[in-house]
Amino acid sequence: MSGTPEPCPLCQPRPDDSDHWILVAKLSVSTLYLDRNQTYRGHCQLIYDGGHVEGLEHLSRDDFARVADDLHHAARAISHACLPDHMNYASLGNVVPHLHWHLVPRYKSDPRWGAPIYTSDLAEMPVTRLSNGQYRDLAQEIHRQVMTGMSPAPR
Ligand SMILES: [Zn+2]
Repeated sequence: MSGTPEPCPLCQPRPDDSDHWILVAKLSVSTLYLDRNQTYRGHCQLIYDGGHVEGLEHLSRDDFARVADDLHHAARAISHACLPDHMNYASLGNVVPHLHWHLVPRYKSDPRWGAPIYTSDLAEMPVTRLSNGQYRDLAQEIHRQVMTGMSPAPR
């Protein structure tokens, strides 16, 4: 057995398009991706770009302020694009311990309204796939809302 640890899948460089996500927009210290599972329309992941950080407690106050601003910005963009009834924010890191959030629009018509999206057995979570065109259109609409609401920070 090798002692080499597995590389972190959320550390950069990350693909813009993978089985897990599609790039929406690069923000000031994080990147927003549309999740491939669209059971909750507009479900995105916001992934911290400032290196391998495993939790908020490891950020400086300045970096926390930046990532909080990105989170707020992403939430507003998704909310404007998808008009959900509610929004959930989850930063768990149990599967991949690299600071990231799931931003999950919730709808009164969704399969787990009134409860967390996560099931005890992850295999029981509903999975909804879109066509490539539907993924692209939704990612572009959220991207448009991101750009409407911000002067992009220089990268
Ligand atoms: Zn990492």
